[in-house]
Amino acid sequence: MGDTINHLKEKIRDIPDFPKPGVVFKDITPLLADAQAFRTAVDLIGDRYRDRGIDVVVGIEARGFIIASALAYKLGMGHVVIRKAGKLPFKTHQAVYQLEYGTDTLEIHEDAIQPGMRVLIADDVLATGGTVVTAVDLVKKLGGEIMELTFLVELTFLKGREKLNNYPLFSLIQY
Ligand code: AMP
Repeated sequence: MGDTINHLKEKIRDIPDFPKPGVVFKDITPLLADAQAFRTAVDLIGDRYRDRGIDVVVGIEARGFIIASALAYKLGMGHVVIRKAGKLPFKTHQAVYQLEYGTDTLEIHEDAIQPGMRVLIADDVLATGGTVVTAVDLVKKLGGEIMELTFLVELTFLKGREKLNNYPLFSLIQY
């Protein structure tokens, strides 16, 4: 397992000072572009969620969609999208969250999740955790039950996990 994870790590490259000075961006595009690495990553995450009674996978715009839709397809589930403000065409619920400078808004269609549905939330990278906390709020607002939060990559030194200690959280690759 360690070898497999190290092999996947070789497909993720560090981009220093992107999108701004001081941030080391984890660029997962080489992993996504490699057929074997992408399949391995999705299989390793997806196998964890067989027979767990999950109803739907929620993905967070934009790179979260890549992981969430592959997982949803693999698991035979639907994929619900959480998008940046102004992108969804039907009636939405909104949640605002704090960025380093200013705020951002995420939205979900108000009929996307029925009360009691068992939800898996997926994103590419867990950094400070602000984004996924907001996604959790939206799913809860619609009455969804959070089964787990799942990530391809976790930046453990940013301690995002501590903001989410009420929820089971899994990441395939840690830095
Ligand atoms: P956060 O709300 O801080 O957990 O940030 C989460 C979102 O920002 C994720 O959806 C990532 O796509 C993106 N992100 C934040 N920091 C990084 C990073 N260092 N490398 C790649 N993506 C990042």
